[in-house]
Amino acid sequence: MTVLPRPEVSAPQMSIDGEPVSTPSRIEVVDPATAAPFVAVPDAGPEHVSRAVAAAQRAGRVWRALSVEERQKYLLQVVAILRNHLDELASLVTAEQGKPLGRARSEIESGLRYCEAHAQFRIPTELVRDDDEETVVVNRVPLAVTAAITAWNYPVLLMLRKIAPALVAGSTLIVKPSPYTPVATLRAGELLQEVLPAGVVQVLSGGDELGRALVSHPGIGKISFTGSVATGRAIMAAAAPTLKRLTLELGGNDAAIVLDDVDPAEIAADLYWGGLSNCGQVCAAIKRLFVPESLAEDLASALADVAASVVVGDGFADGVDMGPLQNRPQLDLVRSLVADAEQHGAEVYFRGEAPDGPGFFHPVTLVRRVRDDLPLARQEQFGPVLPLFTYSDLDEAIERANASEFGLGASVWAADEERAVAVAGRLEAGTVWVNQHPMLSADTPFGGIKQSGLGVEGSVHGVLGHTDICVLRVKH
Ligand code: NAD
Repeated sequence: MTVLPRPEVSAPQMSIDGEPVSTPSRIEVVDPATAAPFVAVPDAGPEHVSRAVAAAQRAGRVWRALSVEERQKYLLQVVAILRNHLDELASLVTAEQGKPLGRARSEIESGLRYCEAHAQFRIPTELVRDDDEETVVVNRVPLAVTAAITAWNYPVLLMLRKIAPALVAGSTLIVKPSPYTPVATLRAGELLQEVLPAGVVQVLSGGDELGRALVSHPGIGKISFTGSVATGRAIMAAAAPTLKRLTLELGGNDAAIVLDDVDPAEIAADLYWGGLSNCGQVCAAIKRLFVPESLAEDLASALADVAASVVVGDGFADGVDMGPLQNRPQLDLVRSLVADAEQHGAEVYFRGEAPDGPGFFHPVTLVRRVRDDLPLARQEQFGPVLPLFTYSDLDEAIERANASEFGLGASVWAADEERAVAVAGRLEAGTVWVNQHPMLSADTPFGGIKQSGLGVEGSVHGVLGHTDICVLRVKH
């Protein structure tokens, strides 16, 4: 197996007001495949937040005065410069996140396509009335400044999913990546300074404390957050004193319900990757699989066949399908969820191979006979573990699928599409897919209901989430 060389990273810097900025204290970033630190990044303090907010406000006065089309031209320059550095950025993503290099490239390419789509959107203006007495227009004004705070599973994609709608809407941003995966985001921030006016997109690195400083700063008007439900709740509370606007993309515990007319062999690979791509570290992955009793044995064996072909290893090695988990606490959590389920009668019907440490590798683990009240059924596992639940009555399966505080995604798998759509209509989620899971595209809103989030990203709806309504009423 060939292992490509790891990137040489010297000292990534933050980007504040168009300038590279460092700090004396730095945070070590660990390569999840080796468990060894490979670089240290700046640790921003309150003074950096204040400087960045002031610069974003200054830049915002010019940025919001540009036309949407002018801002979209800048967005296309963002795409161009990042695409020119695709290999470098992908290599950084693999080094800090762990996913195989090809998957890191796909992550960035998908973010760039997302930006390109946003370069085509129009922000609608609604003419309510225009008669002899009055003209009434509903305009949209940008929310400023946006704090964009991201998680560690897709560092570059999540950053781009926040930058694109905010820039189009007319907002300037301060991006704060996860302290686990700040490196590619910082590098992208440096590159963006070459094509954007100073202060339009700034990147600060730091821990959760930096996130707290940003979300409580009175100069921030909008928080665009991707991360856990617990942090989402804390952010909502911190936003209350100044009524900051929020988009919260939070966790999920997506159910997939398989109906009794499917061919297990035909859908097994799609179900498998719907659950376990990116090592299961996907917000809208299949995290609970409901299967009719009559098909359970055949589907389990078809899933095990797919799992047996998956190679787990270093993301820089050739032929690897799945990397390690991104960090040690996540590895510990996934292990404990599986151990707890086994102690309470669950059966691991497939356990794959994974390299021994020191990296955060976890074998592909397929589990059945998991009680609905166990943490593995109720929490998001966010790892390469797929629990299979059987049902004998479809109404009961729907009820169990909906019995969750989460409501991000869900899916129905069936040969009879009409029947599947009817079941889909009864599932509580921001997106319900039929015969696929998950599927996101820039032209379609994506977001969670219940405690999986607030607001959406994607499509014009996502752009409008970076605006307030401002009504103009002219009496004639
Ligand atoms: P996390 O909530 O621990 O951290 C996310 C970010 O928030 C980090 O940058 C962190 O430093 C920052 N942060 C932490 N506390 C903060 C606070 N009080 N105020 C402001 N910022 C704070 O989440 P994570 O463990 O990095 O990410 C995994 C989670 O993200 C999972 O729950 C996953 O489902 C979710 N996720 C959701 C989506 C989506 O689109 N719905 C996409 C990807 C990941």
